[in-house]
Amino acid sequence: MSTLAATGIKIDQIRAQFPVLHQLVNGKPLIYLDNAATNQKPKRVIEALARYYEKDNANIHRGIHTLAERATKAYEETRHVMQRFIHAKHVEEIIFTRGVTESINLVAATYGRKFLNAGDEVILSGLEHHSNIVPWQMICEEKGAHLKVIPVTEVGEIDLKAYRTLLSSKTRIVAVNHASNSLGTINPIKEIIDLAHQRQAVVLIDGAQASAHLPIDVQELDCDFYCISSHKMYGPTGTGILYGKKELLEEMPPYMGGGEMIKEVTFAKTTYNELPYKFEAGTPNIADVIALKEAVSFIEELGKEQIAAYELELLKYAAQRLSAIKGVRLVGTAPEKVSVQSFIVDGIHPFDIGQMLDARGIAVRTGHHCTQPLMDRFGIEGTVRASFSVYNTKAEIDSLAEGVERTINFMR
Ligand code: PMP
Repeated sequence: MSTLAATGIKIDQIRAQFPVLHQLVNGKPLIYLDNAATNQKPKRVIEALARYYEKDNANIHRGIHTLAERATKAYEETRHVMQRFIHAKHVEEIIFTRGVTESINLVAATYGRKFLNAGDEVILSGLEHHSNIVPWQMICEEKGAHLKVIPVTEVGEIDLKAYRTLLSSKTRIVAVNHASNSLGTINPIKEIIDLAHQRQAVVLIDGAQASAHLPIDVQELDCDFYCISSHKMYGPTGTGILYGKKELLEEMPPYMGGGEMIKEVTFAKTTYNELPYKFEAGTPNIADVIALKEAVSFIEELGKEQIAAYELELLKYAAQRLSAIKGVRLVGTAPEKVSVQSFIVDGIHPFDIGQMLDARGIAVRTGHHCTQPLMDRFGIEGTVRASFSVYNTKAEIDSLAEGVERTINFMR
């Protein structure tokens, strides 16, 4: 059994922390390779959720009783943990949202609505998830602004040369992902950010596929906004963060109105709360935010670099095993990738492959992965996508390759 290099921790020891992995699916041991959609949760995250509801459940910020104080303290602790996790300068730059989708919608609907004018341009890449396309389309339509799209190369990289030519004095916002969910490509975001800043455009980074795998230092990157979903980094669903530079967040109007985001309300006028609360209307996902802290500890105790190095080993092995199968074509072969491998099989629909693999207890994702324009770019309807986390093994990849081979033999 493999170990996590430099830590000596056996992958078996890591697997033991994930209760969900230890079950039979369709009579076979579960092989979970759908980690880019959501990854599994270690016991400590699940226990933190249960502990909160068993011992501390109370609404936060407004109460003076002991439970409310405990819940508030734990909730705010996660804000500090996330500040450290992404190296933000100020804790109030961390806004809790439901995740990346809500974070992007928040920026489009507040920053976008206030600062975009008719004729302005928003630049996206052809690698984007629908969550980083549709909110911009909506606000561009409303404001008479235009979307420009950076093309994607044959291996699945952003075409930087084309990006340079798209940038102009009309560019107001650039929004790209740190890593692609469909292809795994890691984008050169530092360069993308620097080039945008030369044109005084602000940059939003969709970090959905990066937070569990790549180092994130928002000050070094100098990005204006960075979005994270907890459930892609071993944390609970229903929460995540928007990081924004303080000076920008301060200029932005609130997103939703309601409790918590106000300082004072009269029927004549409402004054808004300070950051970060101005953007956190209503009762948030308290339990999920509190448990997210445990997910960060899980990652940090193993070491993000060690996790990434092991996952890269899995990725290379998978690419090698899958590409050796006759009829399989890998989609997304950029040199810099997170642990996502998409592929198609000549003459067999991705759904059929997915179903046959499921019958063998193997969970992969099939379809367009919420990146229909990217699928159009490659002239395909969808792919089969296997994505790996730290608890996966080469033996599981062997089972995947065997399952694909058997499916091909069965269908032909
Ligand atoms: N962007 C990317 C690159 C993603 O992979 C995802 C999730 N598949 C999202 C955005 C949306 O994240 P969420 O569903 O957590 O809001």
